[in-house]
Amino acid sequence: MKAHNLPATAEEILWHESPNICQPHCLKLPEFLASIELNSPSSPIWQADWPLLVFLEESCLKSMEKHAANDILREQAGILCGHAYVDGGQLYVNITAALPVDTVSDSAHFAFHETSWQAIWNRLDDNSTILGWYHTHPGMGVFLSATDLRTQKLHFSLPWQIAIVIDPVSGQSGVFAGSEGQRVGGDQVYLYYRKQ
Ligand SMILES: [Zn+2]
Repeated sequence: MKAHNLPATAEEILWHESPNICQPHCLKLPEFLASIELNSPSSPIWQADWPLLVFLEESCLKSMEKHAANDILREQAGILCGHAYVDGGQLYVNITAALPVDTVSDSAHFAFHETSWQAIWNRLDDNSTILGWYHTHPGMGVFLSATDLRTQKLHFSLPWQIAIVIDPVSGQSGVFAGSEGQRVGGDQVYLYYRKQ
């Protein structure tokens, strides 16, 4: 999304600090892996240069893709919720919900409504936290624009907070993390099913 053409007030995300933004909980990775069914042939392993693993529940991906395809003329956006964990100083996140957010948007811009933020806080259950955000770039490709980077730095700057960008036209998507919005490699992102 780009900042121009929007009134200054509309491009600002209205943010509420909340105790829901908490520190990662200690949980050994093997223990977490025992609780899910990985949809991936390879075992998760941290890369030395970028120690973050992203686990995404299949149903969240489906709901983001559905939301993204809803309207390919305007950007769609939402908030990612779940849990952040640390194992011996290495981080991983488990995304369990992707909540669509009402936005003011056109093909290349959007802004969150203040009321939509309140709705997100109300929908968070006690244990989960905000892990980041997602939005679509219909037909524009997968990257973080200057405005997206600013949003990331301002509101999702913790090392385990991520941005997912989806281009519903090309079917491509990408994951970015931390205050600089660094691209997370595909080999560090894992889809899984919740164990029945
Ligand atoms: Zn964008």
